[in-house]
Amino acid sequence: MEDYLVKALAADGFVRAYAVKATDTIREAQRRHDTWNTASAALGRTMVGAILLGATLKGDDRLTVKVEGNGPAGAIIVDSNGKGETKGYLQNPHISLPLNPQGKIDVRGAVGTQGMLTVIKDLGLKEPFSGQTPLVSGELGEDFTYYLAVSEQIPSSVGLSVLVDTDDSIKTAGGFMIQLMPGATEETITRLEAALVDTPLVSKQLDAGATPEDILRALLGEELEILEKSPVQFKCDCSKEKFARAIITLGPDEIQAMIDEDHGAEAVCQFCENKYEYDETDLTELRKEAGGL
Ligand SMILES: [Zn+2]
Repeated sequence: MEDYLVKALAADGFVRAYAVKATDTIREAQRRHDTWNTASAALGRTMVGAILLGATLKGDDRLTVKVEGNGPAGAIIVDSNGKGETKGYLQNPHISLPLNPQGKIDVRGAVGTQGMLTVIKDLGLKEPFSGQTPLVSGELGEDFTYYLAVSEQIPSSVGLSVLVDTDDSIKTAGGFMIQLMPGATEETITRLEAALVDTPLVSKQLDAGATPEDILRALLGEELEILEKSPVQFKCDCSKEKFARAIITLGPDEIQAMIDEDHGAEAVCQFCENKYEYDETDLTELRKEAGGL
């Protein structure tokens, strides 16, 4: 089963629901960044959260999620867009902590309990939208839930889940986002709250073969109106040309120094670890474009 996201309505349209299977996407991130288990879960959960937030955007609109906690993982930066494409990295990929007292992977220990969750949305307008809330948990699902409630005033429940195998590879990854629209009845809210307590982790459900539709049905019952099903993937938009433009901004003297001292340059994309090489001929061309002789 390929990665995909479903958007649905429930409770006569008073509940908006999203669920995603992102196993291959997070697997790709783990492979590219060589993250160790706790770091994999922290990056993976942030990516699943960004994919779910990105599902509320239109095609080319994009957003960046920044989790800056006081834990050893350091900053986690993830980009996502309305087409289900996402990329992300964290500062310290080699974090492997003992399981927490509940026997679960210790994402809070990696992320920290103090810091900020920031969401910057580029909606093609003059100014990007930016919202920020303090971390309330460090487990990330609660932090996204709190962000939506406080910064966007949408009562929500966000579940983010990554199952890491003993060899550090990703077994499954996914999540859901349930949002209450104004006018949702007490009965709807009570039923949903009870279902949230009872529902197994998304990663466990995926491991047992459940689809994103199954995950939403377990939370919201059978009367679910599926609106859309769309693909999700790890995708970085970097290129040799993009990094060349960044080199040009360094100016002709700096570029000449790269030619004289290193006889070339290498750029590595933080988001996907792709490497781009520039030889002396490339750099001479870039030096000219930067205004040098
Ligand atoms: Zn890249």
